[in-house]
Amino acid sequence: MKGFVGVVLVVIGAIVLGLLLLSGLRFGIPSGQPSSLPFLPTAIPAQAISKEEYWEYFSAITFHKAGNKDSSAPLERWTKSPVTIELTGEINDEVIANLDSIIEAFNVISKTVKLERIEHLGDLIIHFVSRDEMLAKRGRGEEQILGWAHINTDSSCTIGSADIYLQNQVKDRDYALHSSLVHELSHALGFEGHDYGKRGCNALTSIACAPLLTYTPYDTFAIKVLYNSGIPLCSSETEAKIYLDLHWPQ
Ligand SMILES: [Zn+2]
Repeated sequence: MKGFVGVVLVVIGAIVLGLLLLSGLRFGIPSGQPSSLPFLPTAIPAQAISKEEYWEYFSAITFHKAGNKDSSAPLERWTKSPVTIELTGEINDEVIANLDSIIEAFNVISKTVKLERIEHLGDLIIHFVSRDEMLAKRGRGEEQILGWAHINTDSSCTIGSADIYLQNQVKDRDYALHSSLVHELSHALGFEGHDYGKRGCNALTSIACAPLLTYTPYDTFAIKVLYNSGIPLCSSETEAKIYLDLHWPQ
């Protein structure tokens, strides 16, 4: 890669998310679950997940771009700390509270890079915009898309800045707001892909392809690998596998 490369992260997961949230469908939720907590994922004991499953998840969301699982991308992440996050557009207290809780959750897991919300000049800017504005920014229009993320990465695979665009309507339902923020923020932190496997779109278990209210063991693992394990920037999928076999994060 030469110079700055803008990476557009297509948001198929958000499309699924949007369809589900906006239509009120509750896939994968057992009937009888309290409606006030429609998308709380079932807790998965971390120890019940095999190393192979963890690897498959990390690989899917790190080395393949969203919307194209056959694509390959190098390992990219932020290296500065804190990464500052700015909110713009039509925001309210609920938006701020949701973002702050996500930042707190990430900061508990990540040891090297912390996130911090600031008022101006953020490294990562979250724009709340109308649907038309969002589609115009993206330059092409999947009608159901709720949000998308764009990162700028230099030749060392370091993320230097990022923008997230979210439709104003995600604020209309609390869990849509939270899920969309977690999902797009994950893309902006270096997880460009979606999980197409059994842990993904049908399981309510991942940041990368499902609405959720907390980080799952899969996501916690992925953050630890990317931000705590010392895995080299620009690693290919093959190189990452070799590295992880020797440096499995605890
Ligand atoms: Zn996505």
